[in-house]
Amino acid sequence: MKINSEQEMLDAGKAMADKVSGVIELIGDVGVGKTTFVRGLAEGLGIKEPVTSPSFTISKAYALPDGRTLVHYDFYRLNDPGLLSEDLVENLANPKNIVVIEWSDSVKDVLPENHTIINIKYNDDGSRELEVLK
Ligand code: ADP
Ligand code: MG
Repeated sequence: MKINSEQEMLDAGKAMADKVSGVIELIGDVGVGKTTFVRGLAEGLGIKEPVTSPSFTISKAYALPDGRTLVHYDFYRLNDPGLLSEDLVENLANPKNIVVIEWSDSVKDVLPENHTIINIKYNDDGSRELEVLK
């Protein structure tokens, strides 16, 4: 799916809100739009507070109106997630959580076998290609 603007990426995230359950892994280079996608997803899930990149705090959690929680991780450049891996395992075990992960390389071994993977790539013209891999 071709994404031509930031707004279209927000809309793509928003459109996932009623399909999503469990875990989404977001794959793509720096600046490609992963966090933008999560902002749209959060809006679609009814989250009113602004969603910002968790790259310094590694994780951020947002309460949904229906009692679930969106937990957003970014493990960029974290070779050894240490205790955060345990925090992730705990959050993955809670069925009330929707867990979205950017830069999941260091935590791949704790992710459930069945989870959604979304790949985002740059096109030469500056647009993005978004693909739901599974
Ligand atoms: P990531 O989390 O992948 O590092 P961000 O979502 O934080 O990326 O940043 C993407 C940046 O690219 C934003 O500043 C956004 O405005 C800009 N942008 C430009 N075109 C697009 C597009 N087609 N889709 C998503 N983001 C876009
Ligand atoms: Mg990001």
